[in-house]
Amino acid sequence: MIRVNRRDFLAASAVALGGCATRTGAAKRKPALRVRIDAPNEKLVARTFSILKDRVEYRCGAPVIAVQSRADLILALDDQLPEESFRFDEVGRALRVSAGSPRGLLYGVGKLLRTSSYEEGPLGLSAWRGTSTPRGTVRGMYFASHFHNWYHQASPAEIARYMEDLALWGANAVMVIFPMINLQSWDDPQAGPAMDLVRQYARTARELGLQFATGLNNAFFIGAPKEFRATPLPDPLKRRGNSGHPICPSIPEGHAYIMENTRLLYEKLSDVGLDILVLWPYDEGGCACANCAPWGSNGYLRISRDQVELGRKYFPKMKSVLSTWMYDTPEEGEWQGLRDYMPQDGAWIDYILADAHEDFPRYPLDSGVPGKRPLLNFPEISMWGNWPWGGSGANVLPDRFQRLWDQVKPVVEGGFPYSEGIYEDMHKAIVLQFYWDRDRAALDTLKEYIAYEFGITEPELVDATLAVIVMLEEASSNNYQKKPVDAGQAQRAAELAESINAKVPAWARNSWRWEILYLRTIIDRERFAGAGLDSPAAEAAMLRLVELYHCELETDDPYHHRVRPPLKRAVDRQGRK
Ligand SMILES: [Zn+2]
Repeated sequence: MIRVNRRDFLAASAVALGGCATRTGAAKRKPALRVRIDAPNEKLVARTFSILKDRVEYRCGAPVIAVQSRADLILALDDQLPEESFRFDEVGRALRVSAGSPRGLLYGVGKLLRTSSYEEGPLGLSAWRGTSTPRGTVRGMYFASHFHNWYHQASPAEIARYMEDLALWGANAVMVIFPMINLQSWDDPQAGPAMDLVRQYARTARELGLQFATGLNNAFFIGAPKEFRATPLPDPLKRRGNSGHPICPSIPEGHAYIMENTRLLYEKLSDVGLDILVLWPYDEGGCACANCAPWGSNGYLRISRDQVELGRKYFPKMKSVLSTWMYDTPEEGEWQGLRDYMPQDGAWIDYILADAHEDFPRYPLDSGVPGKRPLLNFPEISMWGNWPWGGSGANVLPDRFQRLWDQVKPVVEGGFPYSEGIYEDMHKAIVLQFYWDRDRAALDTLKEYIAYEFGITEPELVDATLAVIVMLEEASSNNYQKKPVDAGQAQRAAELAESINAKVPAWARNSWRWEILYLRTIIDRERFAGAGLDSPAAEAAMLRLVELYHCELETDDPYHHRVRPPLKRAVDRQGRK
């Protein structure tokens, strides 16, 4: 155990005694929360009620019961409200949460949960009043389900619960990709399990009223015939990549191969549904032959259109997102080509997505979005600031994401953050709330997160938690950029976290969200101010992370070390890539 320097702690945050009911264990039984449901008996309404019941009972043990009269809370549908909006008002003594649809009700319940109080006494229902409508129409999350990371390893029940949690923060779309890049063909022994996983995500998302998205490009299986492979990109700036096994769609047999495999993918998703198809130009994909170049405004648009039109035969309402990732890198007229294309031929494109490795592309900021389509982004919320990803616990960079968002918020209205696991859960909440309300500050979202997920509401303790987060962001930013890390500050962050840990309610202390933040402070202290990552304290913390992420200590996956805490004892039987 770490000895808390009590004087330092009191100076940093004078925390009042008293507080959460479950802290001392022997909590008094709370009165029930009586909920009346003024909404049709739809599956998603019932699911929303069960999510509310589960989250409240988990936090404070107050039973949540459905009633016909004398309600404390009314959940209602109101078709006067926009589909995803919700409103909080009062009817007699009851708080009423109304929404334009069952999905809107889920967002309303998210707000209700985050702004209610679970401390001693009766459940303190939210004091928030008003109407809330999301600005962005695609508030997605991309789960990169590979490398035996959490998305790859978690049980269906864990995945469902995690998706519920993201929906409560305002998500309305989830993207998962079938990893052809790692497979020989449809007959590969791994193809079946990989497709089962994609289908499981699709089913889970759609049960929650979330849109399911997948991605396609011109890169297919490892075993694709060599005769019609794409011409590799010159990629003089080394930014586009030549990953995967791309096919040239200008060669008729190549086109046929792409369309046949696209068709098979749709077929395998036909019963679970597909709401959004995201087309991607580079990294995996691209062709530099004379007939396809410049890829982004030529071959790419032709094959993407064919893939979308075929998709709409299976899924008539399917939306399309055309990514422009790494367009004009270097300049070859791709953005201008897309602008010229849109008025005549662009009707099949519903959204345009833009992003880059570093700064957001200038073209849509300076010249507007071609075809005036809604602009989505693809923020990288996982990899920056930590290696291995999640390997030292929570990745918390609220300042970075506020800064990046401020550059694009006048034009970007939604997107698909790139996620490698649960360790950057705070980033997800921050970005989803940016998409909901572009002017909502990351700090404001964090305060709501700290109250709801850590049960921390006393102002001094909130400030102490924020102070820990600020110190962790500074440490990881400096470390990642190979600048010196302040050892004394790493020590102080760990001490502060230790003292907060003693004060959070038991339910929060036992939740992975608090635990990954707390473990991060221990690992940072050991690596920046202590004996290093081999110390017993760091080892124990990393082992616990291994458990939480469902990592493999011995693995055959040559990429698993990217998502596993860097334990010396870990074994990579196939080596590392
Ligand atoms: Zn080509």
